[in-house]
Amino acid sequence: MTKIADKLKQVHQRIEKAAVAAGRDPQDIRLLAVSKTKPASMVREAWDAGQRAFGENYLQDALPKIAELADLDIEWHYIGRLQSNKTREISSHFAWVHGLDKLKHARRLGEQRPTGLAPLNCCIQVNLSGEASKGGVAPEALPQLADEIVKVPNLALRGLMTMPDPHSPREAQSRVFRGLARLRQELNTAGHKLDTLSMGMSGDLELAIGAGSTLVRIGTDIFGARD
Ligand SMILES: *Cc1c(COP(=O)(O)O)cnc(C)c1O
Repeated sequence: MTKIADKLKQVHQRIEKAAVAAGRDPQDIRLLAVSKTKPASMVREAWDAGQRAFGENYLQDALPKIAELADLDIEWHYIGRLQSNKTREISSHFAWVHGLDKLKHARRLGEQRPTGLAPLNCCIQVNLSGEASKGGVAPEALPQLADEIVKVPNLALRGLMTMPDPHSPREAQSRVFRGLARLRQELNTAGHKLDTLSMGMSGDLELAIGAGSTLVRIGTDIFGARD
């Protein structure tokens, strides 16, 4: 067994253990392999081990990889910050966007989605830790943004995404995850149909799954530390 295959197996075991501990079905949690800064050869190795969904943060780094791996049926997720001048390429080459926090970007992504492709799956990023440096909409502004984004043609609003401050105490991180789960519930009670909670990374996937995550984004624990 290759090294990446071993790492993937370990991560799947952690997901399963955390799900069982939380009384949840492990099948309800998807693994997104975050391949940012890693070469296409490592993505191919993970694909050979059965992994199909991959996340990238940097467009210039991702586009050549996506081209090189076009022979594989990979589901690409854009998990980086959005910028208006990058929306066309993102909408053309990705199946999912996780960091949506502005209606302006949503409209551009929808308008620029090539005909013939399925709607672009989107998660709205919510800033629950109050860090000024971080992307994401404030919780108070979320309901209105969701009401507007769900109407944008060629997008499918699937859920919410968040990232706690990794240096904050675990209790604070857990509060952020539970907060996101509660926000999804409130939106669904108000009529939305959000099936995705994108939360949990290498260091906190157990906490996130305990709070209801349906998609964990794992880089380091699959591909090793980044430079
Ligand atoms: C890099 C990154 C990840 C993966 O983080 P690891 O700690 O390496 O697992 C997940 N989500 C986002 C948004 C990232 O930028």
